[in-house]
Amino acid sequence: MPVWLRRSIGRADEISAVQRIVKQRGIHTICEEGRCPNRGECYASQTATFLLMGPTCTRSCAFCQVDKGHAPMPLDLEEPEKIADAVKTLGLRYVVITSVARDDLPDKGASHFVRTIEAIRQLNPLTKIEVLTSDFWGGADIDEVSQRQRIKNILEAKPTCYNHNIETVRRLTPSVRRGAKYDRSLWVLQIVKEISPYTPTKSGLMLGHGEILEEVIETMTDLRRVNCNYLTIGQYMRPSLGHLPVQKYWTPEEFVQLGLIAEKMGFSQVSSGPLVRSSYHAGKK
Ligand code: SF4
Ligand code: SF4
Repeated sequence: MPVWLRRSIGRADEISAVQRIVKQRGIHTICEEGRCPNRGECYASQTATFLLMGPTCTRSCAFCQVDKGHAPMPLDLEEPEKIADAVKTLGLRYVVITSVARDDLPDKGASHFVRTIEAIRQLNPLTKIEVLTSDFWGGADIDEVSQRQRIKNILEAKPTCYNHNIETVRRLTPSVRRGAKYDRSLWVLQIVKEISPYTPTKSGLMLGHGEILEEVIETMTDLRRVNCNYLTIGQYMRPSLGHLPVQKYWTPEEFVQLGLIAEKMGFSQVSSGPLVRSSYHAGKK
């Protein structure tokens, strides 16, 4: 692994405090499930990303570290209050809530997002809440009217920002994001803007799967075409030998160049760097 990807994960006391609070409540964070290298920094700046609806995904993206391949747990109906309580205990000022894909649920988990936003806000009225959702498309009951309604319900709970990751370029989507479609992800971001034009939208790319510069620029262009406001670009790191191998480590200089290109294209907030993750510096807007 190149030297620029090796970093200390930060202060152990801050990390263990968050781990304790999360574990005590039986809830999950993507920070811990994904063993994110930015934990020390994010926790110290009072940001974390909660993973709703359990750690087991109904899809099997070839790059992703979350648990998959067996039935997910039933919904914990008290999870919204548990997360709200954890946000309060940790004193978080900015929180990202995301989830695995729950294609087994009738509404794909959209109402659980709404309940969690409401519970967090009730206990933490000043905390900003960003949502990072799936496309709400999969399993049974898929149609565009229902999908739009799920997104609308979440927007009516007034998140600070609506994030949906496109993850990779068009050509590589079938092999990298099984169960997702490139155009459907663009459509999610487009629907958000149609329903709520003033809610900022955000997406993220994880480089290193074999994409070339022109394809990355094409994806950024597609995102701007649906008026996506914020962009994150980071390096894919192979979690295990069972995951896709890294095809290329983009250099820090290349990430800087991509960030400049993205800014020129009109993204109003860009985080581009090898260790950038979708929720990295999410609260620094
Ligand atoms: Fe958690 Fe995101 Fe920060 Fe990683 S970058 S520690 S997932 S908030
Ligand atoms: Fe991971 Fe999301 Fe794919 Fe599930 S849908 S495997 S959580 S990237």
